Amino acid sequence: MSKPRILILGAGYGGMMTTTQLTKRLGVNDAQITLVNKHNYHYQTTWLHEPAAGTLPVDRTRMLIKDVINTNRVEFIQDTVVSIKKDENKVVLKNGGEIDYDYLVIALGFESETFGIKGLKENALAIEDVNSVRLIREHIEYQFSRYHNMEEKDDSLLTIVVGGGGFTGVEFLGELVNRLPELCREYDIDREKVRVINVEGAPTILPMFDKELVEYAIRRLESKGVEFRLGTLLKECKEDGVVVGKPNSDEVEEIKAGTVVWTGGVRGNRVLEESGFEVARGRVNVGDDLRVPGYDNVFVIGDCANVMNPETGRPYPTTAQNAIQQAYSVARNIKHLLRGEPTEKYVFHNKGTVASLGHGDAIGVIFGNIKLKGMSAAIMKKIIDNRYLFLLGGIGLMLRKGKLNLFGK
Ligand SMILES: Cc1cc2nc3c(=O)[nH]c(=O)nc-3n(C[C@H](O)[C@H](O)[C@H](O)COP(=O)(O)OP(=O)(O)OC[C@H]3O[C@@H](n4cnc5c(N)ncnc54)[C@H](O)[C@@H]3O)c2cc1C
Repeated sequence: MSKPRILILGAGYGGMMTTTQLTKRLGVNDAQITLVNKHNYHYQTTWLHEPAAGTLPVDRTRMLIKDVINTNRVEFIQDTVVSIKKDENKVVLKNGGEIDYDYLVIALGFESETFGIKGLKENALAIEDVNSVRLIREHIEYQFSRYHNMEEKDDSLLTIVVGGGGFTGVEFLGELVNRLPELCREYDIDREKVRVINVEGAPTILPMFDKELVEYAIRRLESKGVEFRLGTLLKECKEDGVVVGKPNSDEVEEIKAGTVVWTGGVRGNRVLEESGFEVARGRVNVGDDLRVPGYDNVFVIGDCANVMNPETGRPYPTTAQNAIQQAYSVARNIKHLLRGEPTEKYVFHNKGTVASLGHGDAIGVIFGNIKLKGMSAAIMKKIIDNRYLFLLGGIGLMLRKGKLNLFGK
């Protein structure tokens, strides 16, 4: 009898952890496991703000998939998922035709959400993956070097607008203002001429933290030169800057800028809606065991899933922490299904949240109510990053790729 085929789509936090957990929990003869990802590497999405600002080489954030998974147990296919034929148990790949499955785990991650804001898709850069952050770093450097080659200097080339004051935007701002002194020295530019502006529609940044921590974050970033435009909507993005204005007001202001980075929202991967899944902002409302209603052999996890928090009646935030815990749950549930046992409900254990404000600085809340700020929070952030690498690939991966210098870079 042929072995059941388990197919995992996406090698981010959710997909990688599902794969490694399945190889640990299942015997060689229990199932045939296949992982599909568009690149041959796995990257740390939660670190992407660093290479985007140029404070960390891209290669520190990524690792070859074959160096992490057990290739004797898992078939890895490097290809792009084009669509999922959920009624036929098939996945269509860009180069490799169709592939069959008995159990499917969809972990294809997020895309930037532009909310229909005019010109954003065409003119703004986004922190999405390795290639997009290389572009941000190089674009900023290109604008800096262009500046010197102009007869009539246009200072706006040195203005960087960051749209969105959530986690990604703030972490990027923190890295960026740390990089600027070095960048200005490298390109012989007066630091005073460089403007970094954050445009956030809500009255404040980082809604997941309390007032005290948010005020600390704003103070620290302002002291390094970030100008905050809070309660201000980014209404349009042009080739040479942005148009902003207050909500419910027709009055607008144009800010000329050489670089615009949009971090104001994400959505689930478009492959799901294009494959006929019912989605809200690209995410599938999954059941309490993370399966798609009506499709008992299909799990959706990570940023492609809306998982309800039974206590609040609202979906959990889509985070790496959630994606990783969901992966453990899915691996256990696939084992249950293979044995004909009932599945378990997914229960999220919130271990805390830490947002970086650049090298040596961060804010966070851990173990429910312990607040951290400054160096202690920055160290905690590195411990969290290292812990993930340890869970994924053991001590070897942590030593190879971890942030082992807790006090330095
Ligand atoms: C800058 C930044 C900082 C963050 N910081 C934190 C943090 O501190 N803590 C936290 O918990 N969360 C954080 N997040 C959120 C976190 O990164 C995401 O929630 C998490 O990455 C979701 O994991 P995932 O497995 O769903 O998707 P991802 O990790 O995004 O992985 C998706 C994978 O699918 C692949 N893929 C996509 N489309 C296709 C396709 N069509 N075919 C084949 N492969 C495909 C991608 O290449 C990728 O490997 C941060 C996010 C960003 C951008």
